[in-house]
Amino acid sequence: LFVTFEGGEGAGKSTQIRLLAETLRERGLAVLMTREPGGSRGAEAVRHVLLSGAAEAYGIRMEAILFAAARSDHVEQVIRPALAAGTVVLCDRFMDSSRVYQGITGNLEQPFVEALERVAINGVTPDSTIIFDLPAATGLERARQRSVGPGESEQPDRFEKEELETHEKRREAFLDIAEREPLRCRVVDATLTPEAIAAQVLAIVEPLLPI
Ligand code: C5P
Repeated sequence: LFVTFEGGEGAGKSTQIRLLAETLRERGLAVLMTREPGGSRGAEAVRHVLLSGAAEAYGIRMEAILFAAARSDHVEQVIRPALAAGTVVLCDRFMDSSRVYQGITGNLEQPFVEALERVAINGVTPDSTIIFDLPAATGLERARQRSVGPGESEQPDRFEKEELETHEKRREAFLDIAEREPLRCRVVDATLTPEAIAAQVLAIVEPLLPI
């Protein structure tokens, strides 16, 4: 079972992934938590380039290709083998982030983004995608307040400095994806309490679990 978590900054994805992983492990399931960009050795190296702002100078095409390269490595080295072993894979961001960040707000033409997606995921499509929805201003405020992770910069990364307007555009783009692919995608209200969100997430995933 492959579940991806999508949405804007500060939506609480990583907290919810941790909570869901705990619940599933208590039920005896093998669970892998992973994230993008990153999740494999090669992809973590590319993550460093992407988030440091070094790729900015090369332009959006280069950036999109780097995201795709990282995703391809992550899929082939980590996700596909885990799924083959029967592990539940919970991934923080995946192909929908590329559609939204590079495709919509990056202004890359759709066929280019679609081609990269096909190459990168190589048939490994999420069984379920949970989209965390909240007003951009709320998400940005949360992202600013959150404690910085080990090894990450104390400064907001360059993506987080972008305008509120861009974040609202992304919110709409994620909701559009959910509307177009209702079988794969479900939207949760990320302004609720962590407990309430966790209950919604579990209700989405539970019917998909192996018995
Ligand atoms: O999930 P998290 O917010 O930590 O993601 C790291 C950053 O990478 C985000 O700020 C997001 O804006 C950016 N990103 C992106 N394109 C993707 C995936 C992530 O611009 N395909």
